Amino acid sequence: MQSAQQPEKETSPGGLLKDTWNFLWITSLVGLVVATLFTAWTEPGLLPASFSRDVSQAILLQATETSQSQPTPTPRARPLVGIVVGHWDDETGDPGAVCSDIDLTEFQVNQTIATLVRDLLLEDGIDVDLLREFDPLLSGYRATALISIHADSCEYINDQATGFKVSAALANPAPERSARLTACLRNRYGQATGLSLHNSITPDMTSYHAFDEIDPQTTAAIIEVGFLNLDRQLLTQEPQKAAQGIVDGINCFLNNENLAPAVILPTETPASTP
Ligand SMILES: [Zn+2]
Repeated sequence: MQSAQQPEKETSPGGLLKDTWNFLWITSLVGLVVATLFTAWTEPGLLPASFSRDVSQAILLQATETSQSQPTPTPRARPLVGIVVGHWDDETGDPGAVCSDIDLTEFQVNQTIATLVRDLLLEDGIDVDLLREFDPLLSGYRATALISIHADSCEYINDQATGFKVSAALANPAPERSARLTACLRNRYGQATGLSLHNSITPDMTSYHAFDEIDPQTTAAIIEVGFLNLDRQLLTQEPQKAAQGIVDGINCFLNNENLAPAVILPTETPASTP
């Protein structure tokens, strides 16, 4: 209803200020509610308590920063993700782990999965750089995220040498963002592949060379997609599952998705096969 007594309501500076203040207040409230829900939904059993807390704090921090510094929605550019193909090195020709019993190298597995990841990300409207192990582009590389894809040993070690590993840099300028990326990758990759998280992160991973080369603003992680011995079936026969798990993890990170629902859902296989 238009009131004749308040003809200047729509345009007066006081009215605008009030509207802006209301918008800021509502934005802050929404941020707080979302952060609270994320905190409440974080499955305690999924991650170590300290890790869950770090992620929750990171989300809370992000929500707060968003509500304070971006009161006006701004159009988002297409995100860029860098994918390092582990051991793609034409100069040394070092293929990483070698399976001497069959004609299979770690590089072949990394390349197949990385290429599938790139294709799936492009389908999702995400720009991708496929990078070599020591790609010159890595120096000062700027992207929303960087993931390096590797696979574990081909030797039979013991029956526990199965599963995947995800790690971020040990010394990290933005620990809350890398905690979020690694949590997303662990959660979604485990769900997509059925592999369990192998709890042994080596200095090779936390001190991965690319972590020191890229721009500090680029959130990065390295994933060992599985062991070439006990997980060979999945890695060579169903690489699309591994690729989908990585893509789901990246999307989880980019979209700040909730981590909890993907935890214990059984893998559903379509009943109808031709
Ligand atoms: Zn490797």
